[in-house]
Amino acid sequence: MSYLPEGTPVPSPGPDDAPFWDACDRQELRIQCCADCGTFRHPPIPVCAACRSTKSTWARTSGTGTVFSYTVAHHPTHPALHGAPPYNIAVIHLDGAGDVRLVSNVVDVPPDEMRIGMRVIVVWDAIGDGHFLPRFRREDGP
Ligand code: ZN
Repeated sequence: MSYLPEGTPVPSPGPDDAPFWDACDRQELRIQCCADCGTFRHPPIPVCAACRSTKSTWARTSGTGTVFSYTVAHHPTHPALHGAPPYNIAVIHLDGAGDVRLVSNVVDVPPDEMRIGMRVIVVWDAIGDGHFLPRFRREDGP
């Protein structure tokens, strides 16, 4: 069962981020990495901000990370989300991907138990048609 209700908007990949979403569909969390200087970047863009190289690779990450920040939504921001709140929206600082932070959700933590610094690991949320979204659960959870 998906963390958010059916009908919630899903990704619409473009040429820059299609490799990220294709990896997600294989349940691999891959982050774009400059092939020349090794700087990770997300969201995906065609040019490295550090060295201006247009060469990149897609590095597979461990899927672990730390809650860098979060908020709790108390009001639906889309008609499909009616009845979903409260739910968290979390910024995850990924391990092994430089300064990359991914906006996602922590699926197994009630709003009053969310904490900055919480260790998390990716879980794959099936959203239909063979597509998956990266969400996270407590690393030390069940
Ligand atoms: Zn670079």
